[in-house]
Amino acid sequence: MCYHVVPHTDYLGCGHRVPGRAQFVDCNLAKCKRSRYHYPHKHICDDLGCTDMLLPDQCLVMETKTTSCPSCSNSGGSSK
Ligand SMILES: [Zn+2]
Ligand SMILES: [Zn+2]
Ligand SMILES: [Zn+2]
Repeated sequence: MCYHVVPHTDYLGCGHRVPGRAQFVDCNLAKCKRSRYHYPHKHICDDLGCTDMLLPDQCLVMETKTTSCPSCSNSGGSSK
């Protein structure tokens, strides 16, 4: 079953964890409809028990920064 890996960056300056762009991870199974290895020949998915389930997103903290996150930095620190 395929899933998405979502890289996160921890910003220690403001304590926010900001998700990056999710990356698709192919499970390489022929019976997975989302895989590029999904049976290339004509078939009926139900007959072969094909699945298109996705596993829950995997969140990975790829980076830790001591600064504030971009949205906090952009606000200039002055909140209305
Ligand atoms: Zn898959
Ligand atoms: Zn199929
Ligand atoms: Zn922030």
